[in-house]
Amino acid sequence: MLEDKNPQLTPISTYGEFGLIKHLTENFSFKNTSTEISIGDDAAVINPENKKIVVSTDILAEGVHFNLGYVPLKHLGYKAVVVNISDIAAMNAIPTQILVSLAVSNRFPVEALEEIYAGIALACKHYKVDLVGGDTTSSNSGLVMSITAIGMEDSENIVKRSGAKPNDLLVVTGDLGGAYLGLQILEREHAVYLANPDMQPEMEGYDYILERQLKPEARTDIKKTLNELGVKPTSMIDISDGLSSEILHLSDQSKVGFRLYEEKIPMDSLTISTADELNLNPAMCAMNGGEDFELLFTIAPEDFEKIRNHPDFSIIGHAVELEHGNYLVARGSNELIALNAQGWDAFLKK
Ligand code: ADP
Ligand code: MG
Repeated sequence: MLEDKNPQLTPISTYGEFGLIKHLTENFSFKNTSTEISIGDDAAVINPENKKIVVSTDILAEGVHFNLGYVPLKHLGYKAVVVNISDIAAMNAIPTQILVSLAVSNRFPVEALEEIYAGIALACKHYKVDLVGGDTTSSNSGLVMSITAIGMEDSENIVKRSGAKPNDLLVVTGDLGGAYLGLQILEREHAVYLANPDMQPEMEGYDYILERQLKPEARTDIKKTLNELGVKPTSMIDISDGLSSEILHLSDQSKVGFRLYEEKIPMDSLTISTADELNLNPAMCAMNGGEDFELLFTIAPEDFEKIRNHPDFSIIGHAVELEHGNYLVARGSNELIALNAQGWDAFLKK
């Protein structure tokens, strides 16, 4: 696809390094007054006024985190921003700026980079963040993208992974497992395509989970919702690696254990039916799948009534004393299954 010797495509060498950066970034506009100096100088200047700065960075490597055989470049650009914005949202901060660094091989034409930047631009617009810098270099193999996100918040509003207390309620936003099952469908259809390029991929009916995988959103809306409800989480994390591992992170940092109720894990009906179709346990997909970019947090028991019937939230468990450990309470049987990687072997099979 990218290797096509299409004469319409422009080799990167047509632009000098700075010419290329200018070309890719010239249509970005700025939305935050905290952005004082942006692309074009030796460094960006950001004015946080009286707030704390929250910073996070993530690397995405071709073949490790994404496969260009089925991930459109524009989606890749968008998602690369979203995963970083999600980390800022997980601190209960407001994302304000990003920096984008790229290592790119010359098998990519300028048009491919334009697609990636179109996705980045869309995410910047949607999340009201400013692209204030980055770095560009060549790569001998695949595409590597590193994004740094900056956010701001008053010190007292920042929420950490530590802070959960025994009896706090464990709450998650949205629904889980969809992104993982979307990936399974993309991989299945890609394998069919590789075996026979004339076969039509069968993606119809899977829209929701494909979107969860290809165009996830960061829950920057939750901060406002919680604020309106008068709830400040006692601890928070975003779900990038799967519910199970994120619970263990909260446990580790907060020094509490957790009970997670399988029957309470929110899942879309398409997630469940696709798991059934692929002979996977849907709860396992939510627990170990990852990339849902929902927020997982704890609240004080007194806040139960404020959250209880809210459509954005599901109460899925509670914190216990650390020595009581981290367990899934299985649907029906109430059997306790330890939340750790090995414990899932038996559970993997349906
Ligand atoms: P330096 O040599 O000082 O590192 P560069 O030529 O790498 O400067 O970058 C020039 C300007 O362009 C800087 O403001 C830098 O932040 C920005 N920049 C470089 N690469 C990118 C990129 N991929 N995306 C956005 N901005 C970039
Ligand atoms: Mg540089």
